[in-house]
Amino acid sequence: MLVLVVNAGSSSLKSQLIETEGKVTRMKCLAEKVGTDQAYMTISFAPDFAKVTYNVADMSVAQCLRKLLDVMTDDPESPISGLGQIDAVGNRIVAGGEYFTKAALIDDEARANLDKCEELAPLHNPAADACIDMLRELMPDTPQVAVFDTAFHTTMPPKAYMYPLPWQYYEEYHIRRYGAHGTSHRYAAQQAANLLGRPLRDLGLITCHLGNGGSITAVNHGKSIDTTMGFTPLEGLMMGTRSGSIDPAIVTYIMRREGKTFDDMDEILNKESGIAGISGVGGDMRDVLEAADAGNRRAELAIDMYVYKIQKAIGSYYAAMTRTDAVVMTAGIGENSAKLRERIFAGLAHMGMILDKERNDFTGQIGANRIISIDDSPIRICVVTTDEEMRIARETDNLVSQIH
Ligand code: AMP
Repeated sequence: MLVLVVNAGSSSLKSQLIETEGKVTRMKCLAEKVGTDQAYMTISFAPDFAKVTYNVADMSVAQCLRKLLDVMTDDPESPISGLGQIDAVGNRIVAGGEYFTKAALIDDEARANLDKCEELAPLHNPAADACIDMLRELMPDTPQVAVFDTAFHTTMPPKAYMYPLPWQYYEEYHIRRYGAHGTSHRYAAQQAANLLGRPLRDLGLITCHLGNGGSITAVNHGKSIDTTMGFTPLEGLMMGTRSGSIDPAIVTYIMRREGKTFDDMDEILNKESGIAGISGVGGDMRDVLEAADAGNRRAELAIDMYVYKIQKAIGSYYAAMTRTDAVVMTAGIGENSAKLRERIFAGLAHMGMILDKERNDFTGQIGANRIISIDDSPIRICVVTTDEEMRIARETDNLVSQIH
C-alpha cells in the first residue's frame, strides 16, 4: 500500500511517501519555520534523495502540503504522476483527548471529534486538521487515518491521569494527564517483547523515548499505566528546550517579578528552558556533550540533571509496576548515545539493571534493535530504533486493509 504520511506541527511539516509492503520510503519532505517569511521546504525522492529546496514564505502548513502535492505530481523524479496513485493518508495527531483510544479512520464523525480535541493542543492539532480538510476535498476517495500521540496512554488509570486540582477543571476543561509519544512507546514495547522472545502481555517494561522531547512510560502487560508527559508535552523529564516538571509556583513568581505575560511564560518554559536553559549552548545533546568535554561546567550540570531525572523516573515506574522485565531506550539520544546510557544505568545497577559496556558501546550495527545488558542482568536493557513515519504508515495500512 502506498501511504502518504503527514506529520503537521505548529510551524513545521514532515511528510513521507511510504510503500508499506517492503517498508520503502519513496519521498521525504520537511518544511520548517512555516508561517514566517523564512519558511522553506525540502523535498527529495528515492533512490538518491537529492534535496530540492522550495520557498514557502508566509504559507500555512496546509498550503505547504498542497505545494508538496503539486511537486509530487509534476516532478519527473517523483514515483507518482497523479494523486490517485496514493492509496491512503496517515496523519499524525498530537492530541486525541478522551475521544480517541486508538488510530481512527477519518469519517464525518471522527472529523467532528477532531475539532473537539483542538483546544488540547492548540499549536499542533489545528494545523493537522487543516491538512486533513484540504486532503478530503482534494482526494475525497482516498481513505485518511488519524494516528494519535495520546492513544496508547488512554489505558492509564484515574490515579495516574488525574491532577489534584479542583474537580471542576476536569469536568469543564478536561484537564487531566494525556501523555504523548504514544506511537513510539507502543512500538518500543513491542520491539522489546520481540527481542526478549516473550509475549508483550506477560511483560513489565519501562520505555524511554529520549529525543528533543522526552518521556518515559510504564508499560504493564502491554498497557501504558503511567507516563511522564501530562496535560501537555511540557510535563515530566527535562528536555532539549522544555523545563519538564517544576514547582508550578515558579511560574506565577516570575510573572509577578518581571511582568511576564502568559505567552512569555509559554515561550520561556517550552523554548528557553531544559538543557538549553541550563547549559547555555542550546538544546541539542551532541553540542552539549561536546561542550562538557571541553570543560563547560554548565553543560556538565545540564547533563547531570538530565541523567538524574531519567534515573528517578525509571525508579518511580519500577515502583508503579507489578514486575519489571526490561528498560527500553529509543529516539535520538536513547538510540545513539552510549555515553548517556552508561551514565543513566551506572546509577541503576542496584535495581538490577546492569549494562554490558561492550554491548552498549557497540556501534557496528546502528539501526538494529538489540539487548545491551549483561546476560544475567535481572532486568534487561534494550535499544530500539524508532521511525515515526514508518510506524504511522503501518498503522494506516492496518486500518485501511480492514475496510477493503
Ligand atoms: P530526536 O528528537 O529523536 O530526533 O532526537 C534528537 C536529539 O538526539 C538531539 O538532542 C540530538 O543531539 C540527539 N542525538 C542524536 N544523535 C546523538 C548522539 N550520537 N549522541 C548524543 N545525542 C545524540
